[in-house]
Amino acid sequence: MKMYVTFGQLHCHRVNGKTFDADCVAVLEHQPSEDGRLIVNKYFGMKYCSAYEEGIWDDADMKFYLRGYINLRWADFYLCPNCWQEATATEKLCANCNFVLIHIRGVNYD
Ligand SMILES: [Zn+2]
Repeated sequence: MKMYVTFGQLHCHRVNGKTFDADCVAVLEHQPSEDGRLIVNKYFGMKYCSAYEEGIWDDADMKFYLRGYINLRWADFYLCPNCWQEATATEKLCANCNFVLIHIRGVNYD
């Protein structure tokens, strides 16, 4: 199932370099057994305008959101804390500078 989240002028978030504001709609996937509003709060706290369940959201409203939809999901990141190069889960050391990689679970987007 999907939740569609809109933002007010004062609700500006930056997540991994992406800006969420009044000109876009965030789309969050969740399992039917999960409470969509809890999922929205996990991503954005209370800092959003409205959250709509799939079926209630009207695609025609997208004319008000010039930057369109942004799809969000949780993802695993493996990064070098020294040079910020991304790595895969199987690597232990940075291919660039040999630092020990760190694992971060965070929000990613399409
Ligand atoms: Zn490195």
